Amino acid sequence: MVGRTHYIVAVSLLLGVMMVSSLHCSRNAPQQSQEQAKSAEQTQPKGILSTFARAKAKAQQTACLSNLKQIALALLMFDNDQGQLPEDDEWEQALMPYLGDLHKELLHCPSQPAETGYVFSSELAGKALKDMEHRDEVLLVWDAPLPDSPTQGPHQGEFNVAYADGHAATVTEVPSP
Ligand SMILES: [Zn+2]
Repeated sequence: MVGRTHYIVAVSLLLGVMMVSSLHCSRNAPQQSQEQAKSAEQTQPKGILSTFARAKAKAQQTACLSNLKQIALALLMFDNDQGQLPEDDEWEQALMPYLGDLHKELLHCPSQPAETGYVFSSELAGKALKDMEHRDEVLLVWDAPLPDSPTQGPHQGEFNVAYADGHAATVTEVPSP
């Protein structure tokens, strides 16, 4: 009998411990999930913002490539009409008839400050495209570096470039003619 009583007491104690510990756990659980929710609240807006920022940066880079393609096409048309590319100090003015009403938007990289334009190759200014070889490798117009960092391009450090055959691409190194 004594042994059996001990057994019942032991089982009751064990059950008691299990109940207390399960209560303890279930009381802790909502606290944990609240903390998790709180930390998710704190991190989520940041994550969403950086996703928006990345999407915006990508859209600007695509718009800039499109600008450069149209500028290159306008330069090719100018060269076709005039027999040579425009002079260095008047190239933007020279392209206005070819770029139309959008010339202001097209002559500006959307990732740059308003006053920063594109760079036109001074090496090619006043020269005829027909005299050039490997025009698909000759730089025509490109992104200026960021105002406060001469080695960084405006697109996550990269530069958009248009070549003398009219195609445009993104490069990682500072463009030089
Ligand atoms: Zn750009």
